[in-house]
Amino acid sequence: MRKFYVAGNWKMNLNLAEAKALVDGLKQGLPAGWQSKVDVAVCPPAYMLAPLAAQLKGSNIGLGAQNCYFEPKGAFTGEISPQMLLDAGCDSVIIAHSERRQYFGEAGDLLKKKVQAALAAGLKVIYCIGETLAEREAGKTEAVISKHLREVCGPDLSLDNVTIAYEPVWAIGTGKTATPAQAQEAHAFCRSEIAKIYNTNVAAKVRIQYGGSVKADNACELMGQPDVDGALVGGASLKAADFIGIIKGAMEAR
Ligand code: PEP
Repeated sequence: MRKFYVAGNWKMNLNLAEAKALVDGLKQGLPAGWQSKVDVAVCPPAYMLAPLAAQLKGSNIGLGAQNCYFEPKGAFTGEISPQMLLDAGCDSVIIAHSERRQYFGEAGDLLKKKVQAALAAGLKVIYCIGETLAEREAGKTEAVISKHLREVCGPDLSLDNVTIAYEPVWAIGTGKTATPAQAQEAHAFCRSEIAKIYNTNVAAKVRIQYGGSVKADNACELMGQPDVDGALVGGASLKAADFIGIIKGAMEAR
């Protein structure tokens, strides 16, 4: 049985005081017993990682970064390495978020190197995939999922410490959530592709988060789908009550 995994991607939002208040709100407000049902993480902007790591100590709430580079150090102005993220107290990193693909041109080989470097350094990875609206309307959803998975997955890369986040780009930050049936269909396809690339055991074990306008009022139904193992949450992770509502939704889902 796969444990749910709900991660909050704060993107480029909040200041440090607001972030600390949000973490306080989560620590105080998470319902009893959440740790046995759901893995929870927050992914703040990079400069907040170290102070929030100190605040999160002992809370069982994970700390993820939103991106990293693949080199350990050197003349790469503006970048941050997996080793630096570990040093800041992170345990995981999001790679290939659609905003990184869309605004920063990240794709293919670069993403594979980032995932490999993060895993080799000892971080867990949330690897994002998903189609745009134009791709969905052109009937290319499965082709895009397959391409994004194959950009990174293969016999040279273990998925033991990787979570896949299926995020249809048309649902991110738009308020347009995939229906539970659409999410399930895409997730089942992801899992079948992973079974083809690896085998059915790996496919049965890997967690696949759904992302795209997840809210407290749709979380339970989305995560009630057999192949939806959690959520990557943007907007609704910025307020403790909203994010806690999603975690409660996960706890009630299966
Ligand atoms: C995201 O950024 O990964 C995301 C899913 O955002 P939102 O929940 O705001 O759609």
